Amino acid sequence: MTQILKIALDIPLDTLFDYRAEEVSTEDVGRRVLVSFGRRKMVGLIVSLANLSDLPAASIKPVLKIFRDTPALAPDILKLLQFCANYYHHPLGEVIFTALPQRLRSDQAAAFPQQISYVLNKAAPHLDDLPLRAVVKRKLLTHLCQDSGIAREALLALSPSASKHIREMLTTGWITQQQENRPKLLAPPVSGPLPQLPALNAEQAAVIDGCSPAGFSATLLLGITGSGKTEVYLRLTAIQLEQGRQVLVLVPEINLTPQLEARFQSRFPDVPVVSLHSSLNDSERLRHWLLAQSGEARIVLGTRLSVFTPMPELGLIIVDEEHDSSFKQQDGLRYSARDMAAARAKQLNIPILMGSATPALESYHNALAGRYRLQRLSRRAVEEAQLPSIRCVDMRNEKPDDGLSATLLQALEKNLEHGSQSLVFINRRGYAPVLLCNQCGWLAPCPRCTSRLVVHLRERRLRCHHCGHEERIPRACPGCGNPDLAPLGQGTQRLEDALAQHFPAARILRIDRDSTRRKHALREMLQDVHEERVDILVGTQILAKGHDFKRLTLVGALNVDGALYSADFRAAERLFAQLMQVAGRAGRAAEPGTVLIQTQFPDHPLFDALRHQDYDAFATTQLVERKQAGFPPFCHQALLRAEATHLETALAFLHQAKKMALPIPAAITLYDAVPAPMARLAGRERAQLLVQADERRDLQQFLRHWNANLNNLKARQVRWSLDVDPLDF
Ligand code: ADP
Ligand code: ZN
Ligand code: ZN
Repeated sequence: MTQILKIALDIPLDTLFDYRAEEVSTEDVGRRVLVSFGRRKMVGLIVSLANLSDLPAASIKPVLKIFRDTPALAPDILKLLQFCANYYHHPLGEVIFTALPQRLRSDQAAAFPQQISYVLNKAAPHLDDLPLRAVVKRKLLTHLCQDSGIAREALLALSPSASKHIREMLTTGWITQQQENRPKLLAPPVSGPLPQLPALNAEQAAVIDGCSPAGFSATLLLGITGSGKTEVYLRLTAIQLEQGRQVLVLVPEINLTPQLEARFQSRFPDVPVVSLHSSLNDSERLRHWLLAQSGEARIVLGTRLSVFTPMPELGLIIVDEEHDSSFKQQDGLRYSARDMAAARAKQLNIPILMGSATPALESYHNALAGRYRLQRLSRRAVEEAQLPSIRCVDMRNEKPDDGLSATLLQALEKNLEHGSQSLVFINRRGYAPVLLCNQCGWLAPCPRCTSRLVVHLRERRLRCHHCGHEERIPRACPGCGNPDLAPLGQGTQRLEDALAQHFPAARILRIDRDSTRRKHALREMLQDVHEERVDILVGTQILAKGHDFKRLTLVGALNVDGALYSADFRAAERLFAQLMQVAGRAGRAAEPGTVLIQTQFPDHPLFDALRHQDYDAFATTQLVERKQAGFPPFCHQALLRAEATHLETALAFLHQAKKMALPIPAAITLYDAVPAPMARLAGRERAQLLVQADERRDLQQFLRHWNANLNNLKARQVRWSLDVDPLDF
């Protein structure tokens, strides 16, 4: 019998397309198909079956192929994606294809990608016959002895140079390569006895008791750094695994938190754990995704996109560092993975746990309003570990040397003598944020953005950190010919140089996006820190996250004042979270830590709350301010963004869009179209229009009508998008 298929396609039209096919059943809903669309062939996905179409029968084309080599997308995922499409007012087809791994977006066969594994041959030497200094080979052999047919990825995870040694061992015939269809466990077997679990403290036990393992509940876990949140995640995960359920753990940026992955793998050595993040290649990504979908992987550890991973037996979702803005996608489908995770938990009727030392004010507000349960961990978990003492260095009384106050320099010196590690934090990479001509005031601008170029002195280049534009450092000022151009302000490179001058004997390591570009670079650097080959670390917020440096006892923070009086109402919240995080790096073990914050405004209430590490105090004052100003979480916002070659074109589109909204419902505030704070980006002019309502329901209802009209609006030469719950303006 011929059936009508409602097909979602990856195109920016908010509609499904009718095709027909013979011999399809409801089992095919969620399967991918190949169809001809216009003159192209496209991959689509069957969203539903129907008996009738509004189109004349003759114009309905047959599907060319139904891909039955991979399982259909489960109904619960389709439902989640549908919710996502409705909430963000984004075409369902684009939402579906954003969520699928790249390989499934194309018409390539997507059978289980073959997994490469290795077996040990007789030709291989005995472990005892290998010299001790052959560290990596010994490691590889140890694992190969334990398990015949160990997955390539498991071996690669053992060392950055594993791949080179595997090649050598293949040539010498020590090992043989196999290709398998069946997936293997990805967690490398752990050798030796299982680590002893710490006894939970009373607070941890209370949190675990409070999280019922079944039924929907949303819990916000407010726990200072080092208070044992991860231990709580592990215990709750164990409970789910015992009950035969899968667990999804969302993290902001996985390559920044390799320790978390390692902790999950070593806690559950026999349990298949897969990770899903952007540094996997397409076939790894597909394999991990399929393992989750088939239920073989029991734990999925992933970044924001993994919130959509099919997991047939999902029993718990954990969102670590739930406040982190990288959970919100900033282009295309601008979804919040944290919010989608909460929606998923609700749909599946399972618990969700969101953890942070500095929750997003939205989440904290939800907890105060009773929508989330609030649980606390208020002490560091390790008995001796003390909270660091946090002090401001009053920069009004200092004459800083290359940005470094005498107070901080002295503290660094003392720490060096003491043999402890220090960290100098500055959230700006490069040598200096601006290049200045002292004679005419020229500041090197980015030709494509409303921004300044950053000086990268070592490469003798100027770079735009927004669009990637690069040029040579000019020999003279293009305005007045003055050859004496001066880098202004501090970046990580300049600090590194300055510290090297002050402390010539110290081993200094810079960790930022530039120094860690190479694959494995970050992992190697972190290893150097752990193995105490580093005295002073200089770095950006990469360093703030999740790392547990046992010997680190001093943290200095520079250039934080910009966020105190910023036009962005979230700047203070972000600064507080960042400083709490860097402060959390100090004194993780027995030695107490000290944090010195250089500022012109030591009396600012933000620092007061920070000194007492009092998130509640900070959040409470912020919430009062937000309420007075009518900002989120006391209202709900959406931003209509438009960009074009000329600003007038973008603004004209938004004016028209505003007109279409008339008459504006009483519950809605529609502001005027204005240029974006960064009006020019990568050669495009940008403008925006803000919509606001007290109630989410009113906003959603308005957006639904408005968006439908916007889709009919002529938008020649304008690219526009709707951003619901925008974080960046
Ligand atoms: P967080 O995730 O909140 O930063 P962690 O879970 O990483 O905290 O815990 C910090 C340190 O304390 C880790 O080294 C961890 O092994 C240890 N730890 C956690 N819970 C306990 C406990 N109940 N007893 C002893 N040590 C603990
Ligand atoms: Zn000049
Ligand atoms: Zn630029």
